[in-house]
Amino acid sequence: MKKDKEPRERNATIRRDIIELMKLGPVTPFDLSGTLRVSEREAAFHLAHALESPSTKYQIEVTPACCKSCGFVFRERKKISKPSRCPHCKASRVEAASYYIRMP
Ligand SMILES: [Zn+2]
Repeated sequence: MKKDKEPRERNATIRRDIIELMKLGPVTPFDLSGTLRVSEREAAFHLAHALESPSTKYQIEVTPACCKSCGFVFRERKKISKPSRCPHCKASRVEAASYYIRMP
């Protein structure tokens, strides 16, 4: 059996799908992993690329990750993956950042 013959094309398809999903509503890597049937890590990787897409880059709205225990908001965080714990109260109940595309 041939191994993954068009990985570039597959990646482009996944990223297009992510952009379409972001137009429908806010998404997190966890949501995407379920919808696209990839690992959460892979979803975060593709989402990072999708966010850099020149056609939609400037329309993306980010809701930063926040702590469910104390309400701390991870405003400075640039990474897509979910923070594992809150630097403020040390709780691990953290809500992931979500991304969506505001359509004109
Ligand atoms: Zn906290």
